[in-house]
Amino acid sequence: MNFPEEFLHFIWQFKLYGNQKLYTTTNEIIEVIQQGMHNKNAGPDFNNAKLKVADAIWVGNIEIHIRSSDWLLHQHQFDNAYENVILHVVYEDDVPIYRKDGTLLPVLIIKDLYPPHLLDSYQYLINSVNLFPCEKQIHEVDKFIINGFLSRVLIERLVQKSMEVEEKLSLLKGDWDETFYHFLAKSFGFKVNAIPMEILAQSLPKQLLSKHLNNPLQIEALIFGQAGFLNQKFTHEYPKQLKREYLFLKKKYSLKPIDISLWKFMRMRPQNFPTLRLAQFAALIYASNHLFSKILNIKNVQELSQLFADLPVNPFWKTHYHFNKEAQNVVQQLGKSSIDHILINTLSVFLFAYGKTLDQYQFVKRAITLLEILPPENNSITKQYLNVGVEVNNAFNSQALLQLKKMYCNEKKCLNCTIGIKILKP
Ligand code: SF4
Repeated sequence: MNFPEEFLHFIWQFKLYGNQKLYTTTNEIIEVIQQGMHNKNAGPDFNNAKLKVADAIWVGNIEIHIRSSDWLLHQHQFDNAYENVILHVVYEDDVPIYRKDGTLLPVLIIKDLYPPHLLDSYQYLINSVNLFPCEKQIHEVDKFIINGFLSRVLIERLVQKSMEVEEKLSLLKGDWDETFYHFLAKSFGFKVNAIPMEILAQSLPKQLLSKHLNNPLQIEALIFGQAGFLNQKFTHEYPKQLKREYLFLKKKYSLKPIDISLWKFMRMRPQNFPTLRLAQFAALIYASNHLFSKILNIKNVQELSQLFADLPVNPFWKTHYHFNKEAQNVVQQLGKSSIDHILINTLSVFLFAYGKTLDQYQFVKRAITLLEILPPENNSITKQYLNVGVEVNNAFNSQALLQLKKMYCNEKKCLNCTIGIKILKP
């Protein structure tokens, strides 16, 4: 059979067998009073179903398989979680299944009970070679349904990301400021240098940097030194100074720099070079002590953006993208889209994680409002949906679309997607 078991879940969940009479393989009439709650975790596929079989009311779980022998293949006969299955719904009944007490498990063969075009439509959808399976059909779906599903996946995305925050928070013994510093560093690497920035933050705790907040040169020396950029010969006085400071601090704190080869410069515009990003990051560190506490207290988006604008970046970077090469007209500051990137990918996630972890709903709400106010991201993924008429009005939509594409469309989980169900359901 060239379709996944989820297709049969879809038929059962939405009662797509219609109003026809259903019979078990032993010819007992079945009336579905409640088809049960779809269970996407371990255990039977639908919980708390209610059936009338012959004259008796049965309450329990439903298990669905392509073949009845899948019951044995999945070793349900040894699993107590399946003891309360009241009906085995299968496409093909190739072997009788008995319960532990020796009674036959009732079977419903679903193969010929749904309209055949449903399977054709489903296969057409998931076998499409479009940028995403429903690219040619999504315009038929009501905007209200699309936006409703996007809201759901946006929350899924924030929950997933806040779990990453919680994991790091636990490793850092509940220190929100230090945890925020790690994620902030990562976001200064943007897409290409996110990993070396993360490794850098691990090698250089915020607590250590905080001891040098009264000395910007030492902050810069620690950041560039730990990033591996100071292990070379310089002609300009500024990097020479950084190197001297770093060698002293390296010895004092027994520091080990990360490998310089981790940093990527290729195919990047100079304003995105990691050297300039590190200079901006250093400036942010010494300009904004207790940054996370400040963020928690700022309710206005413009004020939040302002925290990342006009940073006191060392004047050396007005004429350099690299330590050993002069340049002209260097824009030292983070651009608006870079600031928006940090607000979208780090601040909103932290506000959400903070509110969720501490049960303070006002921060969850602020995270969502922030995404609603910020402009949408303009990238190859958001363009795919925009081109077929999906509204992408703000960062809330663009973040939701990134999640939709990654977790649903790329995985062809159209049967778990309200948009897919709307397309397939007659
Ligand atoms: S998962 Fe949903 S949005 Fe994505 S292709 Fe399938 S039906 Fe379309």
